[in-house]
Amino acid sequence: RERSSNATSGLQGSAHAFERAKRVVPGGSMRQATWFAPHPPYAARGEGCWIEDLDGRRILDCANNFFSLIHGHAFPPVVEALRAVVGSGTAFGLPTEHETRLAEAIRSRAPRCEQIRFCNSGTEAVMFAVKAARALTGRPAIAKMEGAYHGAYDHLEVSLASDTSNWDGPDGDPAAVPYARGTPPAVVADTVVLPYADPARCAVILEREGARLAAVVLDTLTSKAGMVPPPQGTLDAIRTACRRHGIMLICDEVIGFRLAHAGAHTLFGLEPDLIALGKIIGGGLPVGAVAGPADRMAVFDHTRGTPAVAHGGTFSANPLTMVAGLATLEAFDAAAVDRLGRLGDTLRARINAAFAAAGMPAQVTGLGSLFRLHLTAAPIRDYRSSYPTAQAKRAIAAIHLAMLDRGILMTPNCSGALSTPKGAAEIDLIATALVEETERVLP
Ligand code: PLP
Repeated sequence: RERSSNATSGLQGSAHAFERAKRVVPGGSMRQATWFAPHPPYAARGEGCWIEDLDGRRILDCANNFFSLIHGHAFPPVVEALRAVVGSGTAFGLPTEHETRLAEAIRSRAPRCEQIRFCNSGTEAVMFAVKAARALTGRPAIAKMEGAYHGAYDHLEVSLASDTSNWDGPDGDPAAVPYARGTPPAVVADTVVLPYADPARCAVILEREGARLAAVVLDTLTSKAGMVPPPQGTLDAIRTACRRHGIMLICDEVIGFRLAHAGAHTLFGLEPDLIALGKIIGGGLPVGAVAGPADRMAVFDHTRGTPAVAHGGTFSANPLTMVAGLATLEAFDAAAVDRLGRLGDTLRARINAAFAAAGMPAQVTGLGSLFRLHLTAAPIRDYRSSYPTAQAKRAIAAIHLAMLDRGILMTPNCSGALSTPKGAAEIDLIATALVEETERVLP
């Protein structure tokens, strides 16, 4: 019972914007991840948890720029902080104290982030963490979970969730499958893929490959691979292998940092060697960071001669990003993290109770402020169990558009994130709409 969407039909402003854009930008925009035909709405402005599109529609934003806006749009303390510095220059090629202040703020809430190096994206953060792990161990290979997205660095763009199925090999021994056409075979050969939900197989593979592994890269709530936490056994297997083989544990908290005041690793009792950060720590401006204990982070120290890993970046730690990040984190204190987590619990519980009461084969997974819809009642454990059938995929796409018709923006795979301007009224809107539209669209 799919229905056609009017999500963008009749929206002249966005239609014209797209016609103009596609002449100069292949695909009209780099927003591949949020593409749907004939074109998505163009954003004109945002305030709090609302976006206004070019045609004047107000849209409740549950996508939050790929989960990066913890306080929504144009958060007044961020706007003020940006105003205060923008007139004094935006990039210097010299250090500024803004960098130190944001690093101190991150360290004071997350002690495992004893030292921090800023860069411009989560992709870079993960890449520099991997380079650091290679330098620390002298080994080439890395391990990742099947389906987990860690950005566009070649070595991690392997066996990741995509529009088409991107896996191979038996359930307990996933093969490394390149994503981008033209990925060098050597890259794939140096990426080991682990089955997230199978601790025994993770242990076997880590034992087999451990001697050549520089790092295990782990996102403890990988949104593209089900948005479910790993079983304790998988964490134990990783911990054991890291200790036995001297492998570095890299926690990718590019999204996960929003889940706990001291970082998502604290929710799982992990002590990562390196942590990749991004998204919320930039307050809505481009950002990434690698953090960790000082002895690990020393690989980047250039003051004692050539560092083991060179890390720079023309715009890394620019003043605008640093002050926006600081204003954002100051307002996202432990109480705010808890409040948002409880709001997320309420949202997921409400939706799941409604699905159960109606006997619908659907569920939402997630943790804290994050949620994702699945059109099955079977347990979601990992990438393979979360991968929708072709029919479910069409239904998910239809629900995404139906939600947009009702003025609620989620990501195209029907996941979402809450931001602090949201409260009970917005939870009510989201839960009601998602349950009704799922019911309408379900095959
Ligand atoms: N790691 C995770 C877990 C992500 O979700 C993302 C982006 O969505 C990245 C890394 C890459 O971050 P960026 O888009 O800033 O390069």
